[in-house]
Amino acid sequence: MSRAGSDLASLKTRAERKGDKYIVNGQKTWTTLAQYGDWIFCLVRTSTEGKPQTGISFLLIDMKSPGVTVRPIIMLDGGHEVNEVFFDNVEVPAENLIGEENKGWTYAKHLLSHERTNIADVNRAKRELERLKRIAKGEGVYNEQRFRDEVAKLEVDVVALEMLVLRVLSAEKSGKNPLDIAGLLKIKGSEIQQRYTELMMLAAGPYALPFVKEAMEAGYQGEFVGAAYLAPLAASYFNMRKTTIYGGSNEVQRNIVAQTVLG
Ligand SMILES: Cc1cc2nc3c(=O)[nH]c(=O)nc-3n(C[C@H](O)[C@H](O)[C@H](O)COP(=O)(O)OP(=O)(O)OC[C@H]3O[C@@H](n4cnc5c(N)ncnc54)[C@H](O)[C@@H]3O)c2cc1C
Repeated sequence: MSRAGSDLASLKTRAERKGDKYIVNGQKTWTTLAQYGDWIFCLVRTSTEGKPQTGISFLLIDMKSPGVTVRPIIMLDGGHEVNEVFFDNVEVPAENLIGEENKGWTYAKHLLSHERTNIADVNRAKRELERLKRIAKGEGVYNEQRFRDEVAKLEVDVVALEMLVLRVLSAEKSGKNPLDIAGLLKIKGSEIQQRYTELMMLAAGPYALPFVKEAMEAGYQGEFVGAAYLAPLAASYFNMRKTTIYGGSNEVQRNIVAQTVLG
């Protein structure tokens, strides 16, 4: 079976209408936290006629249905965060179709814009910036001018991103559709996320190197765990490599922004 990534419109997982059901066959890769999901939203191919985008539908599938198999993908940081989900003759009630058949692409584009705005994750960036400063002060590198320059540059980027997100939210609230620039928020936000984990590693030096898997959860929560507070840094650093890939890779977002915003 094949899978679609950046070229989402080429997706092949198909749903055939049989009476009051769809029969779904195919595969969905990189499904975050599918091991905990009760339900999954899927884009499925319901027609092969016309442009690839016009034959896609949006279906809600019960994960407990016979024929659904979830297989873990273990990532570079050792964590089980993503999965492959297989659909083998899965029966889905036709009433689980979201909106109209073959209009899934339109719904997905809208939802993905919201996902990309969300990925910018300004609140986390603000919190992690403060954590970076605490680590740098604790490790004695905050007094070094060149390190502080890097923190200052990051802080300027975080403030600029926050302003941009607020502009998007305010435009959305007043009925305009500013979601075209969601890709831009995603690009900047993900770069910021990678940068603060890099600077934390730099600040901690060799103390950041031990890879303590058990400390990962505490690391994601941004908590200090006594003397071991540097232990989650390597795991977070590795984990954040994903941010320029998921939600649509940054390269592809640049293409979209170039076409839709810059013209
Ligand atoms: C940790 C993680 C969690 C994820 N969670 C989910 C999830 O929950 N649900 C879900 O549906 N998906 C999820 N994804 C999938 C994610 O959206 C895709 O990985 C992403 O869209 C890239 O697709 P791909 O991996 O197939 O890479 P490909 O499309 O094969 O791209 C490979 C490389 O080629 C580049 N490239 C491709 N096309 C172009 C182009 N036209 N111009 C320039 N460069 C290009 C890409 O930027 C990338 O560097 C997740 C991915 C990761 C890594």
